Amino acid sequence: MSEADRSLAGLFAPGRVAVVGATDREGSVGRAVTENLLSGFEGTVVPVNPNRESVLGEPCVASVSEADADMAVVAVPPDYVVDVVRECGESGVRNVVVLTAGFGETGAEGADRERELTEVAAEYDLNLVGPNSLGVMSSPLGLNATFGPDAPPAGGVSFMSQSGAFVTAVVDWAAEAGLGFKDVVSLGNKAVLDETDFVRAWGDDPDTDVVVGYLESVVDGRAFVDAAREATDDTPVAVVKSGRTDAGAQAASSHTGAIAGSDRAYEAGLDAAGVLRAESVQELFDAARALSGGTVPESDGVAVVTNAGGPGVMATDAVGDAERLRLASFADGTVDRLGETMPEEANVYNPVDVIGDAGVERYEAALDAALADPDVGSVVVITAPTATLDFGELGEAIADAADEHGVPMAACLMGGGRLAEAREVLRERGVPSYFDPARAVAGLESLAEYREVRERSYPEPEPVDADRERVREILSSVEDRPDNRLGVEAMEIFDAYGIPTPEGAVVDDPAEAEAVAEDIGEEVVMKIVSPDILHKSDIGGVKVGVPVAEVADAYEDLVARARNYQPDATILGVQVQEMIDLDAGVETIVGSHRDPQFGPLVMFGLGGVFVEVMEDTTFRLAPVGREEAEGMTADIDAAPLLRGARGRDPVDLDAVVDAVVRVSQLVADFPSIVELDVNPLVATPDGVRAVDLRLTVDPEELDSNS
Ligand code: ADP
Ligand code: MG
Repeated sequence: MSEADRSLAGLFAPGRVAVVGATDREGSVGRAVTENLLSGFEGTVVPVNPNRESVLGEPCVASVSEADADMAVVAVPPDYVVDVVRECGESGVRNVVVLTAGFGETGAEGADRERELTEVAAEYDLNLVGPNSLGVMSSPLGLNATFGPDAPPAGGVSFMSQSGAFVTAVVDWAAEAGLGFKDVVSLGNKAVLDETDFVRAWGDDPDTDVVVGYLESVVDGRAFVDAAREATDDTPVAVVKSGRTDAGAQAASSHTGAIAGSDRAYEAGLDAAGVLRAESVQELFDAARALSGGTVPESDGVAVVTNAGGPGVMATDAVGDAERLRLASFADGTVDRLGETMPEEANVYNPVDVIGDAGVERYEAALDAALADPDVGSVVVITAPTATLDFGELGEAIADAADEHGVPMAACLMGGGRLAEAREVLRERGVPSYFDPARAVAGLESLAEYREVRERSYPEPEPVDADRERVREILSSVEDRPDNRLGVEAMEIFDAYGIPTPEGAVVDDPAEAEAVAEDIGEEVVMKIVSPDILHKSDIGGVKVGVPVAEVADAYEDLVARARNYQPDATILGVQVQEMIDLDAGVETIVGSHRDPQFGPLVMFGLGGVFVEVMEDTTFRLAPVGREEAEGMTADIDAAPLLRGARGRDPVDLDAVVDAVVRVSQLVADFPSIVELDVNPLVATPDGVRAVDLRLTVDPEELDSNS
């Protein structure tokens, strides 16, 4: 659904909640949700059940239209849901949470039912959660409209989950994990409201400090990106996206398509959205705890303060490994201050070791000095259980120091029961604590990542000059073809988009081939041109370094090889092409793939015939601007090759960037391009040349070309 002006306030802060399908029957969803609602909700709960006078002691009404509610929770059998929801619409109940399962998740009949539900919701403009949802929770009013666990501690994390089980698990674990929640929603089948709606709503919610999601899919990738970009201005968003392996990977006829897969699209999409992506649920909530503190580090320097050597070394290692963090180097004044207050055996350089007999005061002194240091942007404070410490007091001292200096801190409490008091104090006062030093550092790194996200700007890429009319004609030529693919015979597309190509032409007889070769130079490259041959060199269909005198023979040989490979292959001719000096250059690939959720993606990577073996590639949503394209060229492992490794001259990176920008604009302009490979785009110190082309067109989309 995802309209920008939709308010979801009524969903989390209703005054009267009707429970349609409320019942006393033990073990039923209708009872569980009524019990949860009655256990602490500040508003009014109205059970709806035509067959009962009361439920759990609350008087019943016979239908939702009699409940005068502003929100309805629906727990009736699947066949009745659509009618109940229609009744909600007719009687002015705008917020509806459908717990009932048996919709799109169960096959054709369920899918029909779900479609009907979506239609009814649209008719009455309902905020509908589910179906197949565990429900929603919100802490300010004590709302627990789920048939799941008890409400978690209150806090600033708002959590959406595509899995009801994760809601149950995370909420149950919250207290122990030191997490406090504002709103929680189990998205269910997302028939109406989806992740984009909640990112938008929570981005505007002053009580939500961080948005956290467990997602299996994103309904509308581009809308999600827009909503998240806006939210992340002041509210960090972190998600786990499961389903990395692409069971449904489609048969791709390009390298890019083969590599793309939906996870690469999600990676590109979430990155474009400024959303932090966690690899595990634990990592997700580690980040959430750090991010809900509300402060971001002003510098990437980290101070480590510890009373034990080993954990201090581990934290130091983790800081060293973190891409966005480094160990802070203390100013002389800091070292002097520490020298004055610490015992002689203590280490007054970073990591600061206050040693095993430290009391709370020594921690306080060390933290004061470290937090005041100009190079320190965040602090890991570590404690192992010792006899000299009062852990409740230590927790207060850590939280006081964090408050006073406004510098983010992560506590590393390396113990169990003896540190419980410190853990509790820190949770209450909003300082994240962890057991493992590496996780504490990871928490701080997510803050650094969020700072980067917040500093981003998203300029619209400048449109490139292009002869779009010519491209439209070329793409339309697939209508006369048995398949929807075009190859080097369509290289004129490059000219139309200002992407340099080698000299050359496609010809269909040996004499012509010779004539073209004579114009080009002493030696040429020759390639078979056939829509039936996807990878020309695989069948010996590319000849490099053919002297002009041998061009006519080479022509015949290429055709013979194609016939030999596939006797009935359509042969359009042979391409005669200028030789590019590969010794001075790098074969790169620029490609594109259209993702069902995120639309056109552009890929850049190390090219040539081993692309899929190397898979050294990076994806972005298309179109990209120069800055983003520059980022892509820096992203790949082979980036040093482009910059000139081992005494070679660097390639013309500007020209590479320009080609990536132009290809990305091409695919954004023409939705009919399903997949595209420019492989190789040879990059040399003098510029780039697009040497090969393959693309697949969706004829049904030809009319939507720009
Ligand atoms: P395919 O990918 O269908 O096998 P290409 O046109 O990409 O066909 O050619 C395969 C390889 O041949 C390229 O990766 C490159 O190494 C080499 N090659 C192709 N064209 C040229 C050229 N004009 N100059 C130099 N090398 C070339
Ligand atoms: Mg190729």
